[in-house]
This record gives sequence, C-alpha cells and structure tokens, in this order.
Amino acid sequence: MLNTNSEYLRPEIMDVLRAFGCEGEEFTHYFSYSGGKFFNTIEYNSEFYDFEDSFNPANDLEFKRYAKRFAKLAFYKVLSKARGIQLPWGALTGIRPTKLAVMEQTAGRDFKELFAKFGVSNENIQIVCDILAEQKPYRQGGKSLYVSLPFCPTKCDYCSFITAPIDKTGQYVDSYIDCLVREIAGAGAFADGVRSVYLGGGTPFVLSAEHLERVYKAVNSIIKQPVEYTVEAGRPDVFTEEKLNISRQNGVNRICVNPQSFNDETLVAIGRKHTAAQTLAAYQIAQKYGFDINIDLIAGLADEGVKEFEYSLKTAIALNPANITVHTLSLKAGAKLKENVKRLDIAQIGEMIALSRQMLSKSGYAPYYLYRQKYQAGGLENVGWCKPGKACVYNIDVMEELGDNIAVGANAISKRVFSAEERIERLAAPKDIPTYINKIDQIISKRIEFFK
Ligand code: SF4
Repeated sequence: MLNTNSEYLRPEIMDVLRAFGCEGEEFTHYFSYSGGKFFNTIEYNSEFYDFEDSFNPANDLEFKRYAKRFAKLAFYKVLSKARGIQLPWGALTGIRPTKLAVMEQTAGRDFKELFAKFGVSNENIQIVCDILAEQKPYRQGGKSLYVSLPFCPTKCDYCSFITAPIDKTGQYVDSYIDCLVREIAGAGAFADGVRSVYLGGGTPFVLSAEHLERVYKAVNSIIKQPVEYTVEAGRPDVFTEEKLNISRQNGVNRICVNPQSFNDETLVAIGRKHTAAQTLAAYQIAQKYGFDINIDLIAGLADEGVKEFEYSLKTAIALNPANITVHTLSLKAGAKLKENVKRLDIAQIGEMIALSRQMLSKSGYAPYYLYRQKYQAGGLENVGWCKPGKACVYNIDVMEELGDNIAVGANAISKRVFSAEERIERLAAPKDIPTYINKIDQIISKRIEFFK
C-alpha cells in the first residue's frame, strides 16, 4: 500500500513498485519542492530515505514531468538497493524511451546524462543512440492510416488483445467489413498527406480473399499517392497465393509473417495451430510476390531457453527478411499464460535480448524503433530491426508520435499530434465488435469532428 502526499505522482510510483513486484508492500512517501530542488522522502520497512535533486523547470509541464521522474528515481534507488537488482532501463518506466531522448535533445540537454542518472544501462543508452541515427532520414513525420481487423484463427495463450477466434466471431465479418468500408470512405476527407497504411490484426489473412479485396479497394479509393502499405498478414496457416496476389495487386508492398518461434513444441505450447515448416513455406510464397517482409519473434515464450530462442533467431536471419522484430513477452490481464508469469526466468530473457542485439547487428540489421509495454518480462522492450533503407515508416511515425494516425475499426485509437504544443489528442472506437457495428454512424461522425 502506497501513502503519498502527492496523488498525481501515484501512477508513476506504482509503475516502479510493479517493476520490482512489490506493489502490495507498505510505503509512505512525502514530496516537496523549493527553489529548484525536488525533495522525496520514503519510509519503507521502518527505514527513512531522503533524496534531493536539483533542476530548474521552465514551466508547469516541465515541473510535473521532473517531479514524476525524481519520485520514480527515489523509489527505484530504494528498491534496487533493497532487492540487489538493477533494471536495464533503471527508473525509466515509460513506453517510449527514444521519444524522451528526443525531447531532451530538443530542450538542449544531453539525453545520455539523464539516462545515466536514471540508471539506464550503457547498452540501452547505446541502442537509443543507434535508433535515433537510423530514424534521422524519416523524422520529418507524416500522417498514417490504420485499419483494424481483429479476427484470428485461434487465440494464443499469451494474447490479451481483443481479438477472438474466427469460429466465434465469423458471423460478424460481413457486417464488420461493411462498417469498415464506410469508415474508410469517411476518412477520405482528411487522408491527404498519408505516407503509410497499416492493416493490423488480429490476423488479417484469416479473412477471405474477397473480404480483403473489399478493404483494399476502400483504402485505394481514398489514398492516391504512393505509400508504404503493410498488411500484418499474421500466422502462416492462413496464407494463400490468392490472398498474396490480391494484396500485391492492390498496392501492398510490405507484409508481416509472424512465427513468434521456429520451435514446433513451443508453437503447440502457446496454442498456435501451425508448424515452423508452414512458416517457411508461407515465407517462400510471400517472397515470390516481392514484398518487404517482417518476421516477429518473441523472447520468453513457454519453456523456451536461450538455445531455443537462438535457433529461432538464426532461422529468421537465414531467411534474410527486410525486418525482424524481437518482442519480449508481455503478459497483461486477459492472457491465459498470465498465471505462469512467475515461472519466467527474467535473467534468461535478458540473455536472449542481449543475444538478439549481437546476432542481428552482426547480420547487417540496425535497430530502428523501440517501445516498452507494461507487464513486460524483466522491464525489457520490443525492438524493430531493419536492413539498410528498410525501416518501416509506419512504425516510426506511430511509435515516435510524429504525425496524425487515422485509425478505423473496432478498438482503433485515432491520434492527432500537436507537436509544437507537445500535446496529443486521442479518439477510441469501441473494443467489442458488435458494439462497434451498432455504433458505426456515431463513430464516423465523431471521427469527422475529431479531424476537422
Ligand atoms: S495471432 Fe496475434 S492477435 Fe491473434 S491471438 Fe495470437 S497473439 Fe493474439
């Protein structure tokens, strides 16, 4: 239980307590500020800890930002010492470390100093530097269009996303696509300047070729300019030549093949109904159509150790895709695997991530975007890697929040980015498919109002 005299600091402090797995323990916290000094006192296990940090905030926003950072840092120091553990991102709990680095640079400060003060490891400071260098040619930012297709063949055990198996939601597909097509047409009024389109899942390729084609035609009726066009095709058991061909003919130039692991035992253990051989076959057909391909892998799945993860990584690298994205398992509420979270060997997952950095760099890949999620094993991260010139513009724009995101479909969250004011507005659609279908008229008019 946390007692604090500054309620607005509670969510940030709780993030640190969660990272150390001690959100149920007793803490008393007292915060004060005077003349450029931030004071945090923490009582924990009958001991008192006092911290004093100096910083002169330029305005209220900056004051709040630093009050949060110094409070988190104080808790991090207490817990890191008590537990004898240093986290790879130290006291930084936010999901976009690269965005924070850019904010520091824009304010004329060296982000490396801030990161070091907050206990971020040298390896992570270096990867942030590498990512910022890789992103440089793309950072002018642009608008993007996201289309949500929340259907999957089966539900994976670690998944907390709203998607449901198609045998339970198949009855809604026709009406869902009708609504989506209307929504996309409505988005035409503000689609000027879109530089990337992303059809995300779920598993978009679980839909029939006819349904996919209806979505593609709707997108192509509003986007006339050449764009980066990705379909998160998904699991290999739903790939067909017909779907790949239709995708290519309708302008798709990038697809995601998501094996997560190339070990058959793991695939069975996480509830996937495909084999590694199917992934390899799907990859080969996709290659024939000339797509840039992204392969997703996850570190920390089922009972995988470093050896199994290394095998998946080697197999992915041997295929030579344009992108490889290495995720760390994140178990949120809703995931069947959540009860097993304590079994995860955090040190081992850290080793897998270090190995992925080593092997991918050696194989000619550069890291180009990074994000963290709540409940991510070991407080680690997800990193997208690319071959030279093959960074995915959509991932950079959306993760770094460089431009507006027009998002359509159930559970889609549209964003308007006001960079000069450091402000972002969001508009969320209902998560649940029947509600989305019933409220489609309201959703369309709200979005028009939002982007007006
Ligand atoms: S394929 Fe992806 S979205 Fe679908 S259930 Fe598995 S993890 Fe969730």
